[in-house]
Amino acid sequence: MSQFTETVCQGVTFTVQPETMIFEGMTEFQRVHIFSHPVLGRALALDGVMQTTEFDEFIYHEMLTHVPMLGHGNAQRVLIIGGGDGGTLREVLRHPVQRVLMVELDGEIVKLCKAHLPALSKGAFDDPRSQLLIGDGAAFMSGNRELFDVIIIDSTDPVGPGKVLFEPAFMAACRQSLAPGGVLVNQNGAPAFMPGELRESARVLRSVFTHTGFFYAPVPTYVSGATALGWASDGLAPGEVPEAALLERLHRIEGTMRWYTPAVHRAAFAEPPALRALTRG
Ligand code: SAM
Repeated sequence: MSQFTETVCQGVTFTVQPETMIFEGMTEFQRVHIFSHPVLGRALALDGVMQTTEFDEFIYHEMLTHVPMLGHGNAQRVLIIGGGDGGTLREVLRHPVQRVLMVELDGEIVKLCKAHLPALSKGAFDDPRSQLLIGDGAAFMSGNRELFDVIIIDSTDPVGPGKVLFEPAFMAACRQSLAPGGVLVNQNGAPAFMPGELRESARVLRSVFTHTGFFYAPVPTYVSGATALGWASDGLAPGEVPEAALLERLHRIEGTMRWYTPAVHRAAFAEPPALRALTRG
């Protein structure tokens, strides 16, 4: 049985011995591994980088989604860029939204995840409020005229096809597409081993938006500890919404949370000095 090895940084690797290698191949855009493991459950990796596992996806998807959604408080129109496994779409649809547009580069990833990781999307692509567009997120944003209350960038890292989603031109187009009071979030990898990516992302966000910052979530299979999630807006500071208001908003959401609570939301914005040196340096 072939194993999966991610190079976390030079000389540091994360290896999984799958129980079953379910799919291994290339799409038009990226190399795909889908495998199962007794502890991790089913897992997706793209271009040798772990993207999601049934074991810990709830931590990432709940924090990436509910922090901006509940921070906003009345998001009706939501845009997801990337997110091919459907986990973020699933979480957004737990809110009483009117419309969720998802723009994903790679239609094959959506098909493969629906077939082999159905617990991620849980039927979200069939929800009448959701619309899926297959295409490059940056190209879409440069021509977009629709306004969104929340924009969630659930992308791969800033190498390969995901690189454009970290560039100033893309962020400027996102800013133009945010409704008044709107907020954007994006994933920024695990900074312990990739500090340069976080520093650069923080610089780009600051160059485009009035208010920016980061919050953190511990996702075990994004090896190295805290995963950095960025936020940007021209008004709303999602980390400053009082716990009582978050709790009141939480009651409008379907189902129960496994990771997110208003206290976890607030605490996620506490930034240790070593990370603050990267995001404000
Ligand atoms: N949770 C994951 C992580 O942080 O590792 C991200 C998961 S999701 C599978 C990432 C998605 O971003 C992939 O499906 C990929 O195809 C998509 N993607 C990469 N570049 C893109 C682009 N330029 N436009 C739209 N989607 C893109």
